[in-house]
Amino acid sequence: MSAQAVVITPREDPWEMALRQFNEAADYLPLKRGIREYLAYPKREMTVNFPVKMDDGSVRLFTGHRVHHSTVLGPTKGGIRYHPDVTLNEVRALAMWMTWKCAVVGLPYGGAKGGVVVDPKILSQDELEHLTRRYATEISIMMSPEGDIPAPDVGTNPQVMAWIMDTYSMHRGHSTPSVVTGKPIEIGGSFGRVEATGRGVMLSVRETAKLINLPLEGATVVVQGFGNVGAVAATLLHGLGCKVIAVSDSRGGIHSPKGFDPGAVLRHKEAARSVIGFPGTDRVSNEELLEIPCDILIPSALEGQVDAENAPRIKTRMIVEGANGPITPDGDAVFVERKIPVIPDILANAGGVIVSYFEWVQGLQQFFWVEEEVNQNLERILVREFHRVWQSAQEYKVRLRVGALIRAINRVANALYIRGIYP
Ligand code: NAD
Repeated sequence: MSAQAVVITPREDPWEMALRQFNEAADYLPLKRGIREYLAYPKREMTVNFPVKMDDGSVRLFTGHRVHHSTVLGPTKGGIRYHPDVTLNEVRALAMWMTWKCAVVGLPYGGAKGGVVVDPKILSQDELEHLTRRYATEISIMMSPEGDIPAPDVGTNPQVMAWIMDTYSMHRGHSTPSVVTGKPIEIGGSFGRVEATGRGVMLSVRETAKLINLPLEGATVVVQGFGNVGAVAATLLHGLGCKVIAVSDSRGGIHSPKGFDPGAVLRHKEAARSVIGFPGTDRVSNEELLEIPCDILIPSALEGQVDAENAPRIKTRMIVEGANGPITPDGDAVFVERKIPVIPDILANAGGVIVSYFEWVQGLQQFFWVEEEVNQNLERILVREFHRVWQSAQEYKVRLRVGALIRAINRVANALYIRGIYP
């Protein structure tokens, strides 16, 4: 295997997936046709082609997008992705999922997403900074603390958020920390934000385990995508007594039936730039990893990793979606038939946007909380909404994803009816 990252192309177009999911849930709600269409389609989209001066003096053209899906509940919120497979349709889907995610956990935000078609791993730090500052400038008419607040996603991190915040502030003539979340603590970030998405995944696993009578002590865990979300989820579950037996990154995965300490794998990954080669483990491909028998499967890499073709071979007690859109609608149907609960992305990975909301509130008030307060408030919101979604799924006799979407779409639709259609 080469040292180059292996790119697995999603098996179904993410925007088609997002629309299919929306339509299935919207059928349960008495929405007028025009309103239903307005709720589904992005409010505004922007594509930018922009030049970046590389270290060798050459100039390269990059393409980026920013999509605002809905502004009904408030300013738009959503991450920025740097990945070679970014497409406008992927960004549209991710923006729509952000709308439902914010709505299902009761945040005063609409959904947005951004992305640049780039492999950040092959850029130098200077090139990454230049690309980020130019992209931030290009999309700055879409961003503001009151209008649209980006955050990290695949391939971006707190440092990238710091450059975006600094670039925006330079243009405004004063520091504007609240224009992004997921910033470093030193410049107005929130304690607990880096871990928040993984913490929410852990809480979703814990609550599901109670409902299906699965003891967490010794429960086996498989995580696809050992990044910000997957590594934190694995570490926190290890702390609860679970046995993490397989994890992966874009280069492949590692497996040991005896289990391993995810903290040690993280240190190995920092040095080796991959989980591969961690002592005492066997090498597996990302496809094989998904099919390792386990109690808890956490896909936390990219969209479309599980579909109708591989879903029948997955042997697990629950699937908790750390990633956005890892299971296609046809894959979902297989798990309904097999009675395997799937905790949907818009709930399971909402911890990140919940703590981003806390970071935004803290920044606007210039009053910062201790980590314990952040984590307690995250747990209070996520656990409450988890059980409401579970209840909604039972009431409508639908799977959890549809139950969550019904709650979310209903909330946005109600706000829209109250606001009215302008003019
Ligand atoms: P990240 O860049 O920190 O990590 C992604 C990980 O997945 C990396 O280890 C990468 O090597 C691996 N990966 C990439 N392609 C892969 C493939 N085909 N197979 C297996 N592994 C692969 O990104 P992240 O922030 O952890 O995001 C992961 C997922 O979680 C994405 O779907 C993202 O949209 C979602 N998410 C992230 C956040 C957040 O706060 N960061 C919040 C909600 C949802």
